[in-house]
Amino acid sequence: MFACCGQAAYRRWGFEAVIEQIMSEIFDTSVTFDQLGLRSSVLKGVEEAGFKHPTTIQAQLIPAVLSGKDIIGQAKTGTGKTAAFGLPILHMADKDLPMQALILVPTRELAVQVAGELEELGKHTPIRTTCIIGGESMNDQIKSVRQGGHVMVGTPGRVMDLQGRRQISFDHVKFVVLDEVDRMLDIGFRDDIRKILKLVHGEHQTVFVSATISGEIERLARSFMKPDAQKIVTVSGSLTVSLVDQQVLSVEPWDKKALLLHLLKKEQPDTVLVFCRTKATVSGVTRYLKAHGVEAREIHGDLAQSKRNKVMSSMRKGHVDVLIASDLAARGLDVEHISHVVNYDLPEDPEIYVHRIGRTARAGRRGVAWAFATPEDGHLLTEIEKLTGVLMEKFDYEGFTPGPVPEDIRARRTKDAIRPDPQKAMTARVTAPAATGGLGDLSEEERKRMFPNGVIPTSAPQRTLGSRFRTRRGK
Ligand code: ADP
Ligand code: MG
Repeated sequence: MFACCGQAAYRRWGFEAVIEQIMSEIFDTSVTFDQLGLRSSVLKGVEEAGFKHPTTIQAQLIPAVLSGKDIIGQAKTGTGKTAAFGLPILHMADKDLPMQALILVPTRELAVQVAGELEELGKHTPIRTTCIIGGESMNDQIKSVRQGGHVMVGTPGRVMDLQGRRQISFDHVKFVVLDEVDRMLDIGFRDDIRKILKLVHGEHQTVFVSATISGEIERLARSFMKPDAQKIVTVSGSLTVSLVDQQVLSVEPWDKKALLLHLLKKEQPDTVLVFCRTKATVSGVTRYLKAHGVEAREIHGDLAQSKRNKVMSSMRKGHVDVLIASDLAARGLDVEHISHVVNYDLPEDPEIYVHRIGRTARAGRRGVAWAFATPEDGHLLTEIEKLTGVLMEKFDYEGFTPGPVPEDIRARRTKDAIRPDPQKAMTARVTAPAATGGLGDLSEEERKRMFPNGVIPTSAPQRTLGSRFRTRRGK
């Protein structure tokens, strides 16, 4: 119903109706946590965290995990997947058994967050959680595990390292969780994950979750699971949350910095997370904003861990208004007050877009996602819309004066007319069925091929491509 998210839906159906519909997509108000079979010490933590009703994924995944099954869970960003796998572990863990749950995540920041949430939710239970990540003291982590770490949350590198040094053991591991499973099984981590999972030799249960799980990842995931592993999918309609208003802004590459500055000053968004494709761009944009009076901070993998920690903790305290980030910050991070996500560069992989914009509009809050698209970005935009099943609205920003075409580009253009024809750049979009609103005339097989993740939008609004990609210079 709301595949074309954002203001149009609110105008058409009315604010209250839209919010009610959206909340019912996230929460299952027909159940309470105590009906899910969790023990009272766990329920006490849930109540103190302020959770009234479980989210849909929690209502389905918690009983399934409690029944002892291996589970692959797919649910949208910000719908409480951490508690969905964490609460049953807190319920089932044995207080006399150290190192019995292993939760692997892709980044140190996410490990700290997940461990923190489990500590908070489990504070009335005897179950303690330890965080095992690189860049921080190994001795402290070893001490913490030895002093009764029942649950280990970590990044693969440090976990392997400590296991290799015989400082942690997988002998008692009864639960293995891969959070952001598609990232954990992609080429960068796959070998480490294989090695770690091979070392978990005792009888154990596996739970793998993410907002994006392609058929290929599911097949790979199943090779680590029992044959009767169950898949629970609560994603419907689109891969992204309806509460995020997705907008696209057309811009020339050389105007991006100035446009970002313009938006920060004119639109005055609350807290903004800006994603760039490279670390160099992250630093360049941060420097530019600072030079123009914006207190921007940066985060990427080349910074010392102490700096990364400092930025994250300032962000969580609400002391950072503008954070420029690499995809290090794209997965899993839950910072309550991020109101806007900017795709300064569109990601090559459309799944990354889903995770990036998932940093806003979490747990029933609203948010805005701005995508900067250059004339060359047409195909990337189409790929993103095909995956998410959402058509972005064009944001007609006011009052921005584009800069002159840089000298080197002007010279190249005059020389061999290298400038890509915006019409040509759009060809991929025009011919893609999602862009023509013609999903109805696709065969079942074509739909499956277009939406390999299994989330097939039932309708795509009509759109005129018109001048969507003309920059303001052209007007
Ligand atoms: P996901 O992993 O699905 O992206 P998280 O587990 O990070 O989402 O949860 C997102 C936010 O929602 C967190 O701040 C979490 O504390 C909160 N949350 C989780 N479950 C509930 C619930 N049942 N009711 C209210 N808030 C919840
Ligand atoms: Mg998560």
